[in-house]
Formats: sequence, C-alpha cells, structure tokens
Amino acid sequence: MLFGHLAVAALQHRYTKAALVPVTAAAVFPDAIDKVAHYVLGYNATGRMWGHTLIAAALTSLVVLLLFGRLNAASWTLGYLSHLLLDIEGTVPWLAPFVTYEFAPHRGFLEALWGNLTRPMIVVEIALAVWATIVIRQEIDAGRLSLTLSRQGQGD
Ligand SMILES: [Zn+2]
Repeated sequence: MLFGHLAVAALQHRYTKAALVPVTAAAVFPDAIDKVAHYVLGYNATGRMWGHTLIAAALTSLVVLLLFGRLNAASWTLGYLSHLLLDIEGTVPWLAPFVTYEFAPHRGFLEALWGNLTRPMIVVEIALAVWATIVIRQEIDAGRLSLTLSRQGQGD
C-alpha cells in the first residue's frame, strides 16, 4: 500500500543516504501511473502494468540521470526497484512485454482497498510506517531533512 512504499522510501533515505525526493517519488511512481490508468481512466485490466516493469524502471532512471545527475538517478532507481519488490505479494509484470502475465480478476477500487487493508502484510507495513515516522522525526529535529533534489552528482 502507499504508506508502506512511503515508509520504505523514508528508511532508504535514512539508512542508504538516498536523496529523499527522488527515492520517494520513485517509490510511488509505479502506482501513480498504473492505478490512475486503471481506476481513473479505465485503461489496462489491472492496476499493475507498464509502471510496474523493469523497462519502465530503467527508462525513467535514465531520464532522471540525464536531467538530475547520478545521485538522484541512483536514488530514483532504488526507490523504483523497492516498489517492484514490495509488490511481490501479487503479480508484478516485471518482464512485460516480453512475458505474458495472468492477473487476478478485476476488483473495484474499494474492494481492492479492503483486500489490501485486511491482508496479513498490513501489520508489517504499519510497523515500517511507525519506524519511518520516528526516523523522519529525528531527521527533522536534527535539521538534516532536505526536500530538494541533491546537487551532488549532477553533471557527472
Ligand atoms: Zn505497485
């Protein structure tokens, strides 16, 4: 779920020194693309399609590299790949379009949301969110939290 992806991004920022903005943006990017396409626009048979592929991870990482430099691109790639790994509970079309995937039957948004809220992994996601909240609070208190793109590694 979204807060699980955000929590992992915050922990990656804290413990790997990934830049906060790109790692967080990439952690939600696959769902922002695919869930909006599926639930809002009615495209795709599932909420996991093009945004949930390794090709999308590679192409968007390349764009971030060209526009914002190595550190931001590495942070983006880390956030993106963590999203794809955290979704492993269900079908993730990592190798699409080269591999055809079977997805569970379509569920409406509220049914899918309820299914996500009642699965056992929600306990792990809540624990990660609590941990991330504590870590981010410490970053804010120490004056180390930066919500800007890193200038380090740009132009390399
Ligand atoms: Zn996802």
